[in-house]
Order: sequence, then structure tokens, then C-alpha cells
Amino acid sequence: MDSFQFKAIGYISSPYKQKFAIPRQPGLIEEARGSIILEADYSDDTIVRGLDSFSHLWLVFVFHQTADKGWSPMVRPPRLGGNARKGVFATRATFRPNPIGLSVVKFEGIERKKDKLIIKLSGIDLLDGTPILDIKPYLPYADALPDAASGFADAAPETAMQVSFSSQATIFCQQQLQYPDLQRFIEKVLKQDPRPSYKKQRSGEQQYGMTLYHYNIKWTVNGEQNHVTEIHPLP
Ligand code: SAM
Repeated sequence: MDSFQFKAIGYISSPYKQKFAIPRQPGLIEEARGSIILEADYSDDTIVRGLDSFSHLWLVFVFHQTADKGWSPMVRPPRLGGNARKGVFATRATFRPNPIGLSVVKFEGIERKKDKLIIKLSGIDLLDGTPILDIKPYLPYADALPDAASGFADAAPETAMQVSFSSQATIFCQQQLQYPDLQRFIEKVLKQDPRPSYKKQRSGEQQYGMTLYHYNIKWTVNGEQNHVTEIHPLP
């Protein structure tokens, strides 16, 4: 047996509507809240019995947006500036022989909305609509290995990027009562400098845009300064 078929048990609802801006790993932006909406076959309350005694969960998922683009034995980890090449199995890159992702996320509770069973999460690094293959509780005694060697990725990436907001952007965030930490969320997304490596080398002011939730966010970058110029709801 060398080929297997799996069925999605649910799909992620995420503020990240495009790959650009998603952090490289989970847990880096705790304000990134999302949820798994379980498929009808897996939405009986019994399926999550006991889950609420765990603080974190492993998610096994499909890199569905890039799954049809194949894989390569060598990849260029962004962490190495996009120049050095490493074997795909030495990285967490998305272009893998089997496009399967693995993330530890914070469990924030279970919600029942009519026939839908929803698992609420934070600190996610998944694109909206990502198919989930499995959920398992995170077990610190077995899964947390503080002395483990972690090669070229030995600490969370840090940047010197600063983030400021125009008064329109600040007021807009304050008015979005359903997302009280929207401004902090945007700030953290920009602080990690989501630009591809080749754009980071550019000088002078550059303009960027991204979608988080259903908001279109525009900002400029000049050196190490991000400035959020305007935010509007998508039409
Ligand atoms: N934590 C996971 C892992 O280690 O398997 C993902 C790591 S991967 C380096 C993180 C990137 O995957 C994100 O920055 C985002 O661009 C990408 N990504 C997230 N969800 C995706 C999806 N459904 N399809 C394709 N790419 C996705």
C-alpha cells in the first residue's frame, strides 16, 4: 500500500485570506484567531468530548493552495534570506512530496451553531479554507523538547520593523467592535515583515496592500518603518 486517500474532517475559517502576511509558524501572532468548522459527519458533540482539558492542539492539514504546484527536493527557506538551499525534509516548506502541514495552535473553546460544531483557536498560521485532516491534543511531556537542536531555525524570527498608523486607520480599528485586537493584530503582522526577501532589498518608499478578515489594508514601507495609511472594508 503506497497511496492513501483522506477526507477533510473540517475547514478553517481564518483572517488570512492570502498567503502573503501569514506568519511562518503558529503561535507567533496570538491575535490570529480562527476556527475549524467540522464537516457534518464529524459534528456530533461526542467527537470533542474531553478536548476542553487541553490548552493546545496539533492540526494536520493540507497546503491546499499550493498542493497542485508539485514539490522540489531542495527549497530556499525565507529564514536564510531566500538564498541558501536546504533539503525539503530539513524545512517546513509547503512544496513537499505530500503537501501536509502541521501546526500547534491554542484551543479557545467549542461552539455549537445550529448543526455546526466549531472549534475556536488562536495563534494560527493557516490560510482561510484550509482543509483539516486531523486534530490531536498537544502533550507537553512528549511534544515539548526544550533541549532539541533546531538547526538554522533556532528562535522565532525577529525584525527591527516599526509600525505606525494613520488616524483613519486607528479610528477604523477602534470601530470594529467584533475584533477588539484588530490594530494589534495588524501591527504584529507587519512587524514580522511579510514582504518576500527580494523586495526587502529595495530602497525608497514602497506601497503594499493585504486582506485580513474582510478588510483591505494599505501601508507603506520606508527602511524599517511601516506606516498603515488606510483600511477599508472590502466591497
Ligand atoms: N506550521 C506548518 C508546518 O510546519 O507544517 C506550516 C508552516 S509553512 C512554512 C507556513 C506557511 O504556509 C504560511 O506562511 C503560509 O504562507 C502557508 N500556508 C498556510 N496555509 C496554507 C494553505 N492552506 N495552502 C498553502 N499554503 C499555506
